[in-house]
Amino acid sequence: MTEQRRVIARVISESADHPDVTELHRRSVELDANISVATVYRTLRLFEDAGLLDRLDFGDGRARYEEASDEHHDHLIDVESGTVIEFHNEEIEALQDLVAEKLGYKLVGHRLELYAVRSDKGSK
Ligand SMILES: [Zn+2]
Repeated sequence: MTEQRRVIARVISESADHPDVTELHRRSVELDANISVATVYRTLRLFEDAGLLDRLDFGDGRARYEEASDEHHDHLIDVESGTVIEFHNEEIEALQDLVAEKLGYKLVGHRLELYAVRSDKGSK
């Protein structure tokens, strides 16, 4: 079990994309054929509770996962291809602080997902 957890941790840490449970299970099984979907679920919950993992929702009802990072970023989701682009924008960060401040709050965190289609579609 501990060994399987280590395999799953490695898979997550080597994933540069934002895989869902099915994909994480597929990648884990490549390294250890005995890992079940239930074990993946259980391990993900464990890592999430420990703050090692971020669960993301990109609006299609499937939870995605990525390794928790000290460096904050937000996501733009191409709704046609499913491509996820990570970005960081200082103006947005500052604006969010300002919005919270105006409402009488100090911002302690946020999550931002942009849903988009390519604007240059059909022009090539
Ligand atoms: Zn990300």
